[in-house]
Amino acid sequence: MNLILMGLPGAGKGTQADKIIETYDIPHISTGDMFRSAIKEGTELGKKAKSFMDKGDLVPDEVTIGIVKERLSKPDCEKGFLLDGFPRTIAQAEALDQLLEELGTQIDHVLHIDVPQEKLVDRLTGRRICPTCGATYHVEFNPPKQDGKCDHDGSELIQRDDDKPETVKNRLDVNIQQTEPLLNYYRKKGDLVAVNGDQDINKVFEDISEKLGGNA
Ligand code: AMP
Repeated sequence: MNLILMGLPGAGKGTQADKIIETYDIPHISTGDMFRSAIKEGTELGKKAKSFMDKGDLVPDEVTIGIVKERLSKPDCEKGFLLDGFPRTIAQAEALDQLLEELGTQIDHVLHIDVPQEKLVDRLTGRRICPTCGATYHVEFNPPKQDGKCDHDGSELIQRDDDKPETVKNRLDVNIQQTEPLLNYYRKKGDLVAVNGDQDINKVFEDISEKLGGNA
């Protein structure tokens, strides 16, 4: 099962991605996560990506396509994969098609989690993450059991730099401009599957499973 997960920042991609990879037993390939770990490890890639990410801008295509190529060529992707946060530009989508053709495979479904834009600002600025295990919370909609501490390992929760109010607006604007042409690209190919993301987390996943063939 080769899947792409699409949706604006805050639409719930991360939450649904966790459920999809567990149910379908495929690797989760998130370019945002790959960049964040490169920054944490202080690699060359991290240095290149950081200045763009801090401003809420996209990392240049050649850098992003390069890391996805490397990742999709690994053996664990042979049984399928879930791409999250990639592609974000038409150039990336075309590069992905070419790469998959070279690998003798193709995208099965592009899942679009749809949430009204006005709800996304609240979702993003209230988001907190655990720096140790990556678990995601929301100060209002999904708070941890103990204020400011991860339920799994007790780490102090943090706010991602790009979830800060001054960055969120630019990040959403950049994403909205980029997403439309991509949705059209996949709509034309007949791969696009829309899911209403403005409902309970479990209901969103039920809808996804149903659209993927109801065998979850
Ligand atoms: P995300 O966690 O997917 O919201 O990504 C966080 C940030 O990483 C984005 O705001 C971009 O700066 C960068 N990024 C992630 N994926 C891509 C991509 N496919 N193309 C360009 N930049 C990306």
